[in-house]
Amino acid sequence: MNEIEQSSERVVGKADILVIGGGLHGASSAFHSARRGASVIVLEADYVARHSSGVNAGGVRTLGRPLPEIPLALMSRDMWHTLPELVGDDGGFVPSGQLKIAETQAELDECRERVALLQANGFTHEQLIDRETVLELEPALSKHVVGGIWVERDGYALPFRTTTAFRLAGQRCGVRFYEGTAVSRIEQRGTRWYAKTPRGWFAAEKLLVAAGAWSGELAQQAGEAVPVHPEGLMLMVTHRVAPFCKATLGATGRPLSFKQFDNGTVVIGGKLIGIADLAGRHGEVDFMRLVKSAQTVVDLFPHLRHLGINRAWAGVEAFTDDSLPVISASRTASNLYYSFGYCGSGFQMGPACGRLVAEMMIDGAPSLSLDAFAIDRSFACVDAGATSTSTSNAAVHH
Ligand SMILES: Cc1cc2nc3c(=O)[nH]c(=O)nc-3n(C[C@H](O)[C@H](O)[C@H](O)COP(=O)(O)OP(=O)(O)OC[C@H]3O[C@@H](n4cnc5c(N)ncnc54)[C@H](O)[C@@H]3O)c2cc1C
Repeated sequence: MNEIEQSSERVVGKADILVIGGGLHGASSAFHSARRGASVIVLEADYVARHSSGVNAGGVRTLGRPLPEIPLALMSRDMWHTLPELVGDDGGFVPSGQLKIAETQAELDECRERVALLQANGFTHEQLIDRETVLELEPALSKHVVGGIWVERDGYALPFRTTTAFRLAGQRCGVRFYEGTAVSRIEQRGTRWYAKTPRGWFAAEKLLVAAGAWSGELAQQAGEAVPVHPEGLMLMVTHRVAPFCKATLGATGRPLSFKQFDNGTVVIGGKLIGIADLAGRHGEVDFMRLVKSAQTVVDLFPHLRHLGINRAWAGVEAFTDDSLPVISASRTASNLYYSFGYCGSGFQMGPACGRLVAEMMIDGAPSLSLDAFAIDRSFACVDAGATSTSTSNAAVHH
């Protein structure tokens, strides 16, 4: 017995795997591990899906991904199309297609280069389309558009419902979720990992840090400094309006993420940066920045000029210096794993990442290489071609 087991602070829960964080990545990794037979405990500081995973724009987008993420995103997309078989719920997934609009000839050239780059790398899921095809797909769009990129099998889903579906599927496989249970310290003693919480210590052979924007501090405790920082990403939802747009839209030259739900409301975002309060555990809206996005929407859909905004909010998301996530075994400690830093695009990847993280923890290696996401990579910004032809995050939509 080690000091923790002997101490007066009790070990209140034991499992094969401890997961810190009840977002989509924690819930998906827990579910996939439990269906492989592992006993799993998830420790969540607030409640499951409280943060990014429950409040995001729901974009299920392979379009515009950095090259290293594409195999992962394509694997995940196949899983989105068969989600009911996996977790018993479709997460509200609608295969609406995703369309990235070019508004100028220069932007269309950028789209053309992007599609050529993907094809040179063997990826054919993004299609360059001309103005007529864009307007055929979305007749309500302003006539100044000149073309774009279309991905037919992309779409959108409901974030809270999806994360809850993974949680419930996990529970059916025996995963135990502890909400209101923040981990303040992680320690490895002998062959076991321990996580300190206000309820007492939890112990397991393996530990996964999937704590979203709060993961950097936990990695630091294991001696692994990661250039990760939080951002408060904003979204707004309009009043209801008659159906006018089927696809999920983005723009090439300016920030935009745009979709109309069945109930008529329109969700507008696009990595709009608000305020992140990590200590207070919440995000805040900067309304002046939202005005700019509203202007973009009106430029593209002039008939929405008088449409009111119903509500706006911000969620706290983890960003890394090279805009790629950390999905990796620790390089300093045994049986410690990470899955965080999804840079505003991690919802789509939740189903597949959970499976690969479970493989990494249980089999020792994932079935798809995660080398690009190693925690000891350089984190230097790669050139635009290696990530996306849109050099700024702002131009990447959901
Ligand atoms: C406004 C917005 C829009 C977005 N739109 C899209 C989109 O359209 N498409 C897309 O693919 N992605 C989108 N994203 C990104 C996506 O939501 C995230 O990448 C993804 O949800 C990250 O999931 P996660 O499980 O890693 O993190 P989170 O959902 O943040 O979950 C981490 C959890 O860990 C818990 N936690 C933290 N510290 C501790 C601790 N010490 N102890 C216990 N628990 C802890 C937190 O409370 C939290 O619940 C968006 C994000 C935002 C904010």
